[in-house]
Amino acid sequence: MKVIIIGSGLAGPAMALALKRHNISCKVFDLRDQAAFDGGFVALAPNALRALDRIGVYDRIRTQGWNYEEFRFLSSRNLSRIATVLNGSQRKYGYPALRISRGIVRQTLVDVLQEQQIELHFNAKCVQFEETDHSTVIATFADGYIEEADFLIGADGIHSRVRSHLDPNAVPTFSGQLGVGGSLSKSKLPKSGQEMYMPCLILGKLNSFMFMPCTYSGDRVNCFATVEGEDRSREEWTELQNDKSALYEILQSHHENERWPEVVHVASKSVDLSSLSLWPNNYYKVPELSSWSSSSGRGFVIGDAAHAMPPTGGQGAAMAFEDALTLANTLALLDQKESAPHQDLVSQWQVARKDRVKKILAFTSKGGDMRKSSASTFQQLVKEWVMWAYFLLRGKDAGLSWIYEYDTEKLVL
Ligand SMILES: Cc1cc2nc3c(=O)[nH]c(=O)nc-3n(C[C@H](O)[C@H](O)[C@H](O)COP(=O)(O)OP(=O)(O)OC[C@H]3O[C@@H](n4cnc5c(N)ncnc54)[C@H](O)[C@@H]3O)c2cc1C
Repeated sequence: MKVIIIGSGLAGPAMALALKRHNISCKVFDLRDQAAFDGGFVALAPNALRALDRIGVYDRIRTQGWNYEEFRFLSSRNLSRIATVLNGSQRKYGYPALRISRGIVRQTLVDVLQEQQIELHFNAKCVQFEETDHSTVIATFADGYIEEADFLIGADGIHSRVRSHLDPNAVPTFSGQLGVGGSLSKSKLPKSGQEMYMPCLILGKLNSFMFMPCTYSGDRVNCFATVEGEDRSREEWTELQNDKSALYEILQSHHENERWPEVVHVASKSVDLSSLSLWPNNYYKVPELSSWSSSSGRGFVIGDAAHAMPPTGGQGAAMAFEDALTLANTLALLDQKESAPHQDLVSQWQVARKDRVKKILAFTSKGGDMRKSSASTFQQLVKEWVMWAYFLLRGKDAGLSWIYEYDTEKLVL
């Protein structure tokens, strides 16, 4: 069996490593240059780390980010605690949660992939994907190169070219929000900030501000604001991403219409300019696809290409890894049982994954609702009380074990 993977973000390399476990050969293609750097940070929950452990990546990244278990919601009025939620637990889930640079995760995946001698081609933009009538797929690249295989996996992100082949009408729409953030040395925070519990999300009346340590020792802190903005073309987003002074201005303007604690002002003023990044991508919504596979069951989309989700649940990368490992297991099953009903297995995989992603999306939008602005200080107070009561009733795991306990190896088709 031969597989073509389009995209070497997070889902693509995870897919390649998961196929390698089954001795299935694949080639990965990415339109970017090898040196392209991924900015920003991700919080990897136990379900993401369990998947990375299975493909030999977890041990390499474990000490390159901040390991934590509890996450707190604080009020912007006086930094008082609204609620504490368990985001990871060595004892309960087998893994803590990990806040880490997205670039480190992606580079480690690529390193492991290259050590395992899996072919990875950069500057390779897939422009077309066709299915032949002799049960193969053909990918065509911008420079005219052509590759044929048994299956093609589109792990090509939110603006996926492969998805446009499966469903030309599934065009992402901008949600009106974007995240801007960077990192700074913890020592630059005022004393009150250095003593404040982290990771935490400070909920304001109009907005929210996140503080998360992002190195193993916790000496650096990633801070992050969700702000409102207008849609732009992809070229304009890239231009803004590279304009660090403009990003700095956006981060400052976050405080204009609201009183924030000193720690928020100091952090946004002291953030290292070079670390500032903007990532509007996950604030685009992809309409629900009728299918994640082509009519022949030989072309697939996974990760953000199939179901981009807002970052408010911290599950985008986790879903990409889960898709990759479960799809690799499904393809391995097809490889073993030449005569197995191909479409049956493909659709069973799809039903199981769509069901899980739908539930995760519902959880993620609840996280988004918590961050929505309140019309008045009274309404903000009511929101804080409702959150306090809700989390008190649900207990420390907040009823989230179904998310964090998920194990890709337990999906039996
Ligand atoms: C601000 C922010 C915070 C987030 N926080 C979290 C978090 O805390 N936890 C979490 O789990 N997730 C988080 N996420 C989400 C997570 O980063 C994404 O879900 C994840 O990166 C998706 O991986 P992917 O491989 O599907 O797509 P991508 O990482 O976007 O990779 C797609 C790749 O495909 C390539 N490509 C595109 N088109 C082509 C083509 N035509 N030919 C060849 N190559 C192509 C691109 O160059 C790219 O390398 C966050 C996202 C944002 C924006």
